[in-house]
Amino acid sequence: MSIARLWGSLRSYATKPELRKLRNIGIIAHIDAGKTTTTERMLYYSGKISRIGNVDQGDTITDFLPQEKSRGITIQSAAVSFNWQKDHQINLIDTPGHADFTFEVIRSVKVLDGCVTILDAVAGVEAQTEKVWKQSQRSPKICFINKMDRVGAGFSRTVKELIAKMNTRVALINIPLFVQEPQDQVPRFAGVIDLVNMKVIEWDPEDCDKINVTDATTAGAEIQEQLLRGRESLIETLGEYDENLIEFFLEEANGDYLKVPPELLNGSIRKATLAKFVTPVLCGASFRNIGVQPLLDAIVNYLPSPLEASLPETNHPTLPVKLDPKLGALMNNNKNLCVLLAFKVITDPIRGIMVFVRVYSGTLHAGNTAFNSNTGKKFKIGKLVIPHANVYEEVSTLYPGQIGILVGTTVAENVSTGDTIVTHSLKKDGLRSLDSKREL
Ligand code: GDP
Repeated sequence: MSIARLWGSLRSYATKPELRKLRNIGIIAHIDAGKTTTTERMLYYSGKISRIGNVDQGDTITDFLPQEKSRGITIQSAAVSFNWQKDHQINLIDTPGHADFTFEVIRSVKVLDGCVTILDAVAGVEAQTEKVWKQSQRSPKICFINKMDRVGAGFSRTVKELIAKMNTRVALINIPLFVQEPQDQVPRFAGVIDLVNMKVIEWDPEDCDKINVTDATTAGAEIQEQLLRGRESLIETLGEYDENLIEFFLEEANGDYLKVPPELLNGSIRKATLAKFVTPVLCGASFRNIGVQPLLDAIVNYLPSPLEASLPETNHPTLPVKLDPKLGALMNNNKNLCVLLAFKVITDPIRGIMVFVRVYSGTLHAGNTAFNSNTGKKFKIGKLVIPHANVYEEVSTLYPGQIGILVGTTVAENVSTGDTIVTHSLKKDGLRSLDSKREL
C-alpha cells in the first residue's frame, strides 16, 4: 500500500492559525525508545491516518525514506500537523535519535516551543537523550516513559534517573497501573492512574480504540493508596511554585490531597512548565496503544503556544526587531516585517531542496523578495508548502507562529540552516520594502 493512501483526513492548514491553540513541538529520544511508534499512534488518534502503521514492517508515516526503512532508523526529521482537543493544532517535528545526527536535533529543538522526550522504561535515560536535553535547556519539556509493558520496565527507577541526570523537578501526571488476572503469571501493564483528574484508564489489549475510564476514588484500596501518594507528591512539588495551590490546599481542601480540583492542578503545571521549573511526566506503552491520548492532552495542556514560548537567540544582532514580552515567541506585531529562521534543510526526491522555516513575525507570501541577514544577499522566495509527513500542501502564505517549507532553486542557493531571513532590507534609517522599493 502506498504511504499516501494511508491518510485518513487530510485537513488543510492554509488558513491563519489561532496562535493560542498552536503547539510547535519536537520529539527527542534515543534510537529505539519508540518515537516512530508513538508518533504513528498520535496520528491515528488524531484522525490523521486511518490505520496504525508498524515500524517493524516499515510502513509508518514518519519513516518514509527507503533508506530509513532498510536501516530501521529515523534519519530525517519529518514534520506533521494534526489536530487534538477539537481545534488545537499540533505541529510535530520528528527528530533523529541516532548519535550521528545530534546537531540536526539541537537545531530543530531550538526553534520549537516545547518538546516531548520519550524514554524506554527498561533502558532509562540514555546518553544521547541526556545530551540533547541539556543542549535544549531553554525548551520546556514533557517526558513520556514508554515501553512500560516490557519485562524489566522500571517507572520509579526511570523517574529517579531523570531527576538525577537532567537535574530537573518532575510532576507525575499519571502512574502505571498493573493488573493480574488469574491467567497472568506476572502482573500486566494495563493502563494508567491519572493523578490530576483522579481516573483509572484501562486499555483493551484486543482493541486499540477501547478504553475503560473509571473514578479512581472508588477503586480498590491499592489504587486509592497509590492515588493518594501520587497526588501528595504532585501537589507538594507544584505548591513550591504556586502559592494559590498551597492556599487552596490549606484552606479549602483542609489538608486533603484528593480535594484539590483538576483545574487548579492543570493551571499550576502549565505555569510551572513555562517557568521551566518542572517536567510533567507520563507513562505508557505506545506499541500496545496505551498512554498516547493522555500524552496528546499533555502537549496541549502543558506545553506553550507561540504566545507563551520564549524567543530563540537569533543570529543577527542588528535585526530591527523589538522584543515585546506580551508576544511570547513572536518578535513584534509589525505585519510588514517578516522574520523567519531556517532550521532544517532536506532534499526531497520530488521537490528538491526544502528549507524548513519558523515564522517569528509578519506574513510571508510566495514570490516575496527576501533578504538573508547572514549572507547579506537578496533572493526570491519560491513556493511555500506546509508539511504533513511525506505529503505537502502548497500554500500562498505563511503566518506568524507557523512552521513551513520554502521550495525552489533560488532558496536552495541562498539559505542554509541557522539563517535568519527577512522580507525587508535592513537600513539604519528604517525598513525598506524589497518588493515595492517603498520606505515603510
Ligand atoms: P524509534 O527508533 O525511537 O523511532 O523507535 P521505534 O518506534 O522504531 O521503536 C523501536 C522498537 O521498539 C520497535 O521494534 C517497536 O516495535 C518497539 N516498541 C515501541 N514502543 C514499544 C512499547 O511500548 N512496548 C514494546 N514492548 N515495544 C515497543
